Amino acid sequence: MFMHFDESMQMIDDLEINNYKTKKLYVVDALGYVLAEDVIADHNSPEFPTSAMDGYAIVHEDMTLGRLKVGSINPAGSVAREKVIGGTCIKTFTGSLMPEGADTLIPIENVEVEGDEIIIKEEVSQGFAVREVGENYAKGQMLIPKGTKIDFAQIGVMASLNIANVLVYEKPTVAIISTGSELLELGEEQTNDSQIRSSNNYILEAIVNKYDGIPMQLGCIKDDKESITTAISDALDKSDIVVTTGGVSVGDFDFVKDVIYELGCDVVFKGVRVKPGQHIMVARKDDKFIIGLPGFAYSSTVTALLYLVPLIEKLQQGRCAMQKVKATLKEPFYKRAKKAEFTACNVSLEEGQYYVDFEGKKLGSSAILTNMLGNAALLVTSEDDTSKEVGDEVNVLLFG
Ligand code: AMP
Ligand code: MG
Repeated sequence: MFMHFDESMQMIDDLEINNYKTKKLYVVDALGYVLAEDVIADHNSPEFPTSAMDGYAIVHEDMTLGRLKVGSINPAGSVAREKVIGGTCIKTFTGSLMPEGADTLIPIENVEVEGDEIIIKEEVSQGFAVREVGENYAKGQMLIPKGTKIDFAQIGVMASLNIANVLVYEKPTVAIISTGSELLELGEEQTNDSQIRSSNNYILEAIVNKYDGIPMQLGCIKDDKESITTAISDALDKSDIVVTTGGVSVGDFDFVKDVIYELGCDVVFKGVRVKPGQHIMVARKDDKFIIGLPGFAYSSTVTALLYLVPLIEKLQQGRCAMQKVKATLKEPFYKRAKKAEFTACNVSLEEGQYYVDFEGKKLGSSAILTNMLGNAALLVTSEDDTSKEVGDEVNVLLFG
């Protein structure tokens, strides 16, 4: 009996990983990796009140005098912290520490210089253009929690904390194998009419690259039990996840599922009430995983997005990179099966609202990969959903 789609997702979510692989990377090389440690501020930024503009450091009350004597000059990077005495000011620049005694910076634009004095033309409020201690971050503050995907902002903040090397999760290596005696690899010469060009192993390589894994392309192998056994067990040694396509269904030459059992893997699940891809199989051997995807190109692509991508993320304690959004139907949707269905659709964003239509999408078998071209997304329905009408709200999985 095949399981409910939600249950299969929950089982992926619940998988316990015993040992996460981590490594240290030079901070700038960590772009796109997931952080494996919390980043906590070990100092205040700024550490002292700092000027945010070019101007004159003053005591705010002195503004009523209208005219102040310029005591000295205080450039950025200068360590001398002279004191502002009542009735005087110190010329101070963007990034200079505020001199002691001063609480306000009056910008150059607001004064007129006359000899060694300034005349205040336009007043400012107390504390104007002074960056307080800890304005950017305060000592002890949690700035970037473990599990965050590192983007440019995280790299900048870590650099400001003088973090040159950062602990990240290793991206899992994903070995990719397509099975099928009819398959031709890219460029391989066709020798009989029954052969077809394999697309699965290439689309999977792209998916793994796009969603933060490291692909290990192992190409196509024939529907021969011995070759499949050797290929999968070698791949398991060399990678963190092995993903196969084809051979998990009920045909006489569908050996992948048997091989997975015979290799002594623990089967997490086999068979889900999902369309496409109901014969999907997920198994594990210690902290390594095997995902047996169906052979049809559309099926293997969709199930890779549904199961392989979350597993790649899981091994890095990362969060789902694919977004599920609400959208409005521009065309009716006919529910075809009492299963969770993932239907290729076009998605558009108009004035902040997502819309879905099926223009140019073909009905037919799960071999139709071209339905994934264009502004494609997946319309998601659960097994209890029924057909929907124009204007109905639906869930859509975005991967673009
Ligand atoms: P299977 O799951 O092995 O029964 O394959 C189902 C269908 O998908 C068959 O029509 C296969 O020819 C096709 N197929 C299998 N593997 C691939 C592949 N790597 N690329 C494109 N189509 C494939
Ligand atoms: Mg096959």
